[in-house]
Parts: sequence; structure tokens; C-alpha cells
Amino acid sequence: MTRKSYVIFVLISFFAFAKAYSQGITVQPSKPTASEIYEDLKKLNFLGSVLYVAAHPDDENTTAISYFANTVKARTAYLSLTRGDGGQNIIGPELRELLGVIRTNELLAARATDGGEQRFTRANDFGYSKHPDETLAIWNKEEVLGDVVWAIRTFKPDVIINRFNHRTPGSTHGHHTSSAMLSVEAYDLAGDASKYPDQLQYTDTWSPQRQFFNTSWWFYGSREKFEAADKSNLVKVDVGTFYPGLGLSNTEISSLSRSQHKSQGFGNTGSRGTSDTYFELLRGEMPTNDDVFQGINTTWTRVKGGKAIKTILDNVVATYDFTAPDKSIPQLMKAYALVQQLDTHWKNIKSKELETIITAVTGLYLEAKADTNYATIGSSIKLDIEAINRSAQSVILKKATVTATNNVVASNKPLANNERYTTSKTLTVSDDFKETSAYWLREEGTLGMYKVADQQMIGKPETPQENTVTFDLIISGVPISITKPIVYKYNDRVKGEVYEPFEIVPAVSSRLESKVIIFAKAESKKIPVTVTAHQANFTGTVVLDKPSGWKVSPASYDVSIANKGEEKEFLFTVTPPAGDSEGDLSPRVVSGGKTYTKELIKIDYAHIPLQSLFLPNKARVVRLDIARKGNYIGYIQGAGDAVPDNLAQIGYQVAVIDPATITPELLSQFDAVVVGIRAYNVVDEMQAKQPLLLDYVKDGGTLIAQYNTSGRWGNTKIGAPYELTLSRDRVTDENSEVRILAKDHPLMNFPNKLSQQDFKGWTQERGLYFPNKWSSEYTPILSMNDKGETAKDGSLLIAVYGKGHYIYTGLSFFRELPAGVSGAYKLFANMLSVGKQEQQDIKQ
Ligand SMILES: [Zn+2]
Repeated sequence: MTRKSYVIFVLISFFAFAKAYSQGITVQPSKPTASEIYEDLKKLNFLGSVLYVAAHPDDENTTAISYFANTVKARTAYLSLTRGDGGQNIIGPELRELLGVIRTNELLAARATDGGEQRFTRANDFGYSKHPDETLAIWNKEEVLGDVVWAIRTFKPDVIINRFNHRTPGSTHGHHTSSAMLSVEAYDLAGDASKYPDQLQYTDTWSPQRQFFNTSWWFYGSREKFEAADKSNLVKVDVGTFYPGLGLSNTEISSLSRSQHKSQGFGNTGSRGTSDTYFELLRGEMPTNDDVFQGINTTWTRVKGGKAIKTILDNVVATYDFTAPDKSIPQLMKAYALVQQLDTHWKNIKSKELETIITAVTGLYLEAKADTNYATIGSSIKLDIEAINRSAQSVILKKATVTATNNVVASNKPLANNERYTTSKTLTVSDDFKETSAYWLREEGTLGMYKVADQQMIGKPETPQENTVTFDLIISGVPISITKPIVYKYNDRVKGEVYEPFEIVPAVSSRLESKVIIFAKAESKKIPVTVTAHQANFTGTVVLDKPSGWKVSPASYDVSIANKGEEKEFLFTVTPPAGDSEGDLSPRVVSGGKTYTKELIKIDYAHIPLQSLFLPNKARVVRLDIARKGNYIGYIQGAGDAVPDNLAQIGYQVAVIDPATITPELLSQFDAVVVGIRAYNVVDEMQAKQPLLLDYVKDGGTLIAQYNTSGRWGNTKIGAPYELTLSRDRVTDENSEVRILAKDHPLMNFPNKLSQQDFKGWTQERGLYFPNKWSSEYTPILSMNDKGETAKDGSLLIAVYGKGHYIYTGLSFFRELPAGVSGAYKLFANMLSVGKQEQQDIKQ
């Protein structure tokens, strides 16, 4: 999937106001204007921090975050407990952990836009949860609480703001309420040295001053109720600031930030004018004005030795020359030297901010560019160094070294005003270079938790770029070291300059084309394993590990690949056992005494940097006895799902239909037509074509519609033949009891006899957006519900219409089939076979 084409356009459009010191999109150099530098200078003089806490990427109030980062000029971070793995994806096929990677980067793009920082915990977004009791049972509560404590101890906020209400469990997503409950609990624990004492070898205790809940009328049920409510405990803040230096209002920045959540369809239109936001005090003293920091010293005088720095920086702000920012350099260097003598956590924070400002006012451009976007340990790369000073001030490049290895790549070079200095060096990638793949996916975790062994990695938004070059400089007589990540860049004829991360990768990776392989008969299948060498002249062997009872031949192949990036395919014959059985196939490449088991997955979208992930490589193999009727299936894709491939796995011939081309003649060829998830939500043409689909049913066809959303986007027109009302009913417990209401119905008996056994081993959930009202023509087949709720009977409805059948189902086949759940395959085969009892049985 290549979506590179808009990378540069999008990056430029939000880099115009990206804050240089914020995290994310770190491969793209920041080039702030004189006005932006001025805003950053003012921020340098604010020593206060606010931590915003919620559960998912997109929960955060970007208006509040942008207000604190840009108006108050506080150090502002969003702690999202999860990376949003359990959400839906409207821009592509990635789900689960891969979606978590996309949403992590969307948050980083959002923070680069609104000036905040980003933190996480190890909690995994396992899907919708109705109650915090369930959430905290699936997450490891002690560990996630510890991670929130860790976030407070390391970020050291004066003020914590919760997005959600900790006092109303069950009223919203269980992850939401849990985020607020854990934040409230961690508020006290962070300052207590007897709690999570292991963390204290890396950091110290911290006690915030205030905690708020970022309430709004929504939490009161209506605007009227909120108007009438007692607000004596609420701080009201107008967050509608206009920034002339940026040409934008805070609310406009906020919507640009929010629009980065593209996988969630959160494109947002900016607004202007005053905008009130409310913070309900939970802990600490109630401010008497609209300043959440009231009474907290947020100036340089809060740190020992800060007073002298304050005097210098106040002067820098007062005398800043927008036409010649470099005039501030001598004063800034003086302040920088003083900051180096501080003994507080502010030393690193303010050093980084100063470094960015000094680089900007000096017009200093420093770059370390590799001649490749990826390399393996032991290979060699050519580094191109560029350094230029574009100011009247004295700048000397004392030394440039590869940070990990101390390889010197440049030394003793005075940088004269606007004279470009370049040099190159070829070096071997030693094992001091660090692997760059997403750190939280290196080991397999549990349903509710990522596994991260290194305490100091916990909470980091992404794997830190440790493959860097350190530039030791002397600016206006003061030494300063500036570290730059090694990058890769190239010129694209259409896009122009393209930056990509420089990655350290394993010598080899392997891949299986299908993630689930169904053996509907006892016959063997030839399974291709593709081996990709990431270095030249690779040799080794590849084997395919199998579940017990299965056979694989040959036992191994010798692998010899001459060129870096070249791949070769090896065919293994896999034979299933006679009876039902399932397990995992996983390729393993062995070379030079090392074993390589990972697969390379690239995620390439316009709004985030190219992601290269090395993940455990396996395919689910399922031997199941399945019968089916009908053969040729038409599939209309909605938001995108892998169901067509899955149906092909059990022997169906599947044609993906472009809705624009639907005609009665086209439809008449199919034994059944299936509508993909959310097609009526996202495919405009469905409204016009629905009458043709219904005529097809009337003439004897079978139409199966999978789930569409209701509610937030208004009542969806699914064009069912008889009345049917979608609701937000869902059953999130994948192990909840399934009661068969229509035991004798063909859907439960033909051609596969189904029982409760077939609802075992489902994944993530049963289904969602079930209809809750339907006319008498429909037969409800199944009944299910989450613990403590009323029965939901709308998960699978079927009606006879004319000579054919119409089925509407909110069951999550789009999750179950790719996971190889055998009962879901049998039920789907029965849906496709309905009304075909007279046809000859196609027993696989
Ligand atoms: Zn959420």
C-alpha cells in the first residue's frame, strides 16, 4: 500500500507552525520563522508543566492542549494510556497493533501541530469495554497505575487534567473512566517513595499541586442542565486566543491538530472567536481567577540559580529584533552556559529549548545524511555532513562525531556567514548502533498489556532516535553540543525533497503471504515463504515451524541472496492432520549462528513518517471440515476488510464489485452478494444501487449486509427490504454466551450443523451496532449480551424477500475470519448457502 504521494505537501502545511522542540516527525528539519522564534523565547521564561490524561489517541481536548502550550506557554503533555489499537481504521486495512502504530504517529503529528508532548503507558487498547471493572481486569491494573505514576514522576507536572470523570463508571467507555480513576489514584502515589520504589533508581518522587477534570455540558446531559449547575468549583478559561505571529487562533490550531487523527476520520474545521472551557477542581487549592497555575511559581526564580537566567532572558525578549534575530545570540549563549550549571530537571528541558532557539536564530543548519534508508549491523554506510551558519556571529564546528561510536566525521572548521561546509565519511555500522523498530512491539504482550522490559523506555512515544551525530560547536565563545538524527533523503521528481528515517534492521526477514490459511480438506497445500535479505551476500537456511500433528516438507532450504533488498520465495508443502486442528506456522531463518523470526511491515501514509516494523511472523493454520453451497460470490467493499480473501480460503470464487458498475445483469451471475463493513456509511453509490440489490434478492438472490454504524453520523440508510432500526447495541465480551434462538433454521443447520461450540474461540468482541427493532418478516437467529445487560437478539437477522433472502448481521466477521475462527467460517458458509438446499452439496 503506497500512499507516499502527499507526504511533502502535508508535512509542509503543518510544519509552518510546528514547534521545533516538540516530539514527532523528527526526521523533517524544523525551520521556524522569526515570529515563531519569538513565541519560543517567551516559552523559555515559563517554568510550569501540565499533564493531560485520557485513554485513547483522539480523546484529548486539543483546544486545551494548544491553549496551555501556546497561550500559557506551559510544558504540556498528553498522556494517552493506550495507542488506540482497538479502534477502527477508515484509511486502510491495518488493525490492532499496526493501527496502534498509525495512531501513535497521528498523535505525534497532532502534538507537532499544537506544541504539546506525547506520553503513553503499556496498556493495550483491547477494544470496546463497557465498565472500568472489566478494563482494569484485562489491563494489569498495578502495572498501568505504575506507568501513570512513572509519567508523573518523570514529567513532573504542576497541574494534572483528566479528560474524563472518575466518579461515573459505566457511563462511557471503560477505558475512559479507568484513565481518570488511575490518574486520581496516581496523584497521591507519585509523591510517596514507598510506592513503586523500583522507579526511584531512575527518577525521584513528585507531588503535583492541582488536579482538574476537564468537564463540559456533555457530562451534565444537556446545555440547559449545565447552565443551571453550580459552577463554584469550576475554573472557566477562554481558550480562543488569536496569535498574530502565527496568523492563527488557538481553536484553528486545535482543529489542525485534531485533523491529524485521519485513521479515525476526525477531519475538523477550525473556528474563531472566544471559546470557554471548564476545569473542575479535584485536588489542591481553588484558583481565584482563570489561571490553573495561580500561586505556583512558574518563573525562573523557582529554580536555584534561575534569577540570573531570568534577567538575561527578560532582556532577550525585550530587545528581540524580528529583522535580525541573530543579535540575541551572545545573550542566549550566556543564558545557555548558566543553564548548564543548574541542578534540577529544568536543566535538560531548558537546554533543549535553548538549543532549538539558538539553532534557529543562528540560521544554523546541521545535517547527517546516510546514503541509504536502512542498514544492517556490520555493513558500511557513507555519511554526508552539512553545516552552515547563516548569521554574523562567530560559530566554530569543533567536532562532529557519530554519537554511539565516537567516530569523528568533521573537526575544527570555522563556519563563516552563509558559507556551506560539507564533508563525507564512510563507516562501518558497529553493534553500538541501535535497532529502530517500535520498541513496544519487540516482544509479544498480552491482550491488555504491551511487554516492555526496560523501565526507561516505558511511556516514550516511539523508539528514541539513538543513531545520531553530535555536533560540538562554539557559538559566541560558548561551547554547545547539538545532536541530530542520521536521516535519509532523496529527491522525488514530483514531490521534491523527501526525508525518511534511517533504520537499523536485522540481516534478513521472512514473510508468509496469508495470515490465516484454512485447510477445508485433508489435502496438502503449497505455502510460499518469502525471504528478504537486508544486506548483500546473505547465506543461511530457512525452515517452517509447524503445530504438532502437521507435516511440512522439505525440512529446510538453503538460502543464498546476492543483493541487498532482494527477495526469494521458497515453497513448503504443508499437510494437515485428518481431524480438526489449528495452530501457527512460523518461518525461521538461521545464519551465522543467529536466528531471525521477524517479518518486515511497512506503513506508508502521507500524514505520518514511513514506518518500518519488524514483528513476529506467523500464520494461523486451521484444519476444519466445512461444507458450502454456491460458488461465485460478489463482494462490495465498504470501509475495507479482508473477508473476500477469507472466503476464497474456503474455496469460494469471490469477485470484488465496483458499486458504480452494478447492473441487474452483473448481479444475476452471483450465488450471493456480500456488502462489506460500513459500506452504507462510506460508499455514496450504495443509496442509488440498493434498489437493484433488492431486485436481485426478489429474483432469488442472497444479499448479506455486514455492520454499519448508527448514531453519531445520523440514521444510516441501509435500504433493508423491511423495517430495521440500527442501534448502538454491541456485545464486547468475545466469550459471552450465545443462545441459539432459531435452532431449526437453515442458517444453523445447512450445510454445516452449528452448535454453541462454534461460538468458542472468538476474538475481541461478538459484534456491534446491532439492530434493536425489526419488523415481523425478520427471524432473529441468535441472542447474546454482555454481563449484566439485557439480551440482544439483533446480531443476525434473516428475512425472505420475494424468492430470495436478505441477511443483516453485526457479528464481527471482519475480525473473526482473519483470526481463523472456525465457527465464524462455518456460519458464513451457511449464510452464503441459504436457500440452496436443492443444489448439489459442495463438500470440500
Ligand atoms: Zn476514547
